[in-house]
Amino acid sequence: MKRTEDTYQHKGMRRQLINSLREKGIQDERVLEAMNNIPRHWFLDSAFNKIAYEDRAFPIGEGQTISQPYTVAYQTQLLCVNRGEKILEIGTGSAYQATVLAEMGARVFTIERQKKLYDHLQRTYVFKGKYPNLKFFYGDGFEGLPSFAPFDKVIITAAAPFLPQKLIDQMRVGGIMVVPLDDPEHKSQRMLRITKTPDGIQEERFDFFSFVPMLSGKNH
Ligand code: SAH
Repeated sequence: MKRTEDTYQHKGMRRQLINSLREKGIQDERVLEAMNNIPRHWFLDSAFNKIAYEDRAFPIGEGQTISQPYTVAYQTQLLCVNRGEKILEIGTGSAYQATVLAEMGARVFTIERQKKLYDHLQRTYVFKGKYPNLKFFYGDGFEGLPSFAPFDKVIITAAAPFLPQKLIDQMRVGGIMVVPLDDPEHKSQRMLRITKTPDGIQEERFDFFSFVPMLSGKNH
């Protein structure tokens, strides 16, 4: 991640990307504004400088990817983010999604299981100091962060093989989780929104997406 210039050209491409997300059905203007404020090219290798504003995923090392902007916008919109809410993210990756949530004023706790990606971020995160409301953790997202629970919202940005019960336990009643859940029939993931109720959960089903797998345990 490098802080090069955020030129007029970058800003123009970003504006176009935001317009295309609106055309693809993203309606939450707070999400679009946050994404418009964040230079996505700072999260990618400088080789991708010019194409950072295409609506596609990119490699970020360790076989992982930065999610497609449409996917980030889609998940963030489903999460209905409000200022001051406590949000747990599983799968920090490039930290782009986490930064969007922080820019929206949420208190963000994000976990990454790949030590190299976590260490890389510790060294290079370009917004150091700008978001005191964003905290990075190295660990296994299936375990969540019990000492910081309860969370208002949980967002999983890797393909979950099942609904992680420990993460549901760490949500407050009325809290919501947005999670791409493996669907064996489609060989991809169905986006779900889970709402925690006093006596269980409610599930809403959305579109199909393709994520890298959510894996258990830490990778050193
Ligand atoms: N939110 C990221 C997308 C990252 S891709 C972004 O905006 O760039 C998914 C990430 O989830 C990968 O970095 C992968 O290493 C991580 N991951 C997979 N399983 C995990 C787990 N159990 N706990 C924490 N992170 C996990």
